[in-house]
Amino acid sequence: CGIVGVVGLSAAAPLLLDGLKRLEYRGYDSAGIATLVDGQIERRRAEGKLKNLAAVVERQPLAGTTGIGHTRWATHGAPTESNAHPHATSRVAVVHNGIIENHNTLRAELEAKGQKFASETDTETVAQLLDLLLAEGLPPVEAAKQAFARLEGAYALALIFTGYPDLIIAAQRGAPLAVGYGDSEMYLGSDALALAPLTREIAYLEDGDWVVVTRAGAVFYDHDNREVTRTKKLTSLTG
Ligand code: GLU
Repeated sequence: CGIVGVVGLSAAAPLLLDGLKRLEYRGYDSAGIATLVDGQIERRRAEGKLKNLAAVVERQPLAGTTGIGHTRWATHGAPTESNAHPHATSRVAVVHNGIIENHNTLRAELEAKGQKFASETDTETVAQLLDLLLAEGLPPVEAAKQAFARLEGAYALALIFTGYPDLIIAAQRGAPLAVGYGDSEMYLGSDALALAPLTREIAYLEDGDWVVVTRAGAVFYDHDNREVTRTKKLTSLTG
């Protein structure tokens, strides 16, 4: 299971597929990517190996220069296409590694408020919670901050938002996540290996951190929402 992301200038889909390929060693049962195309979320997902996802993308190419990708190791919900990540609403798309322990409580609360679920995953509670907060008019950073505060469990998360082509918000609690610095482009990956062909400049999130990534750089916050510095390091890995 792994996460990749790019806030970029070049075509996102090939970068995401290549990054996921580099995370294959972790094991997975399905995969998917989502990008922003003219500000709208578009996604492609497939059961099984990455070559299935690559074939879907070949048949139905995915434009966009900002996006997120995921290889899933199912914990909640069978390894089907509809349970594959990214999970999306009209406002937000989410990829997640780990488990949202309070997903039952969240799902009941969100369904009672009229949110319509499309999968059996714990992860979709994050998408639906964000969707509700965004629908109430909160900007993405505020919605993400409030959503993260409601989540229990261990996770790495990455989010993209309708109408925000220069933004990924990500969070880590108990599952690693790295931000990669490119040339007017920024990346996200479960580890430095995923980003090795793209950049050697990496900053790791610390436990409880979340980060706002734009082409201009990354702004890190700790679990108390205080802005913090996470120093860039040069990895010895090369593409
Ligand atoms: N718990 C989530 C799911 O089953 C994420 C699994 C993973 O880490 O890939 O969809």
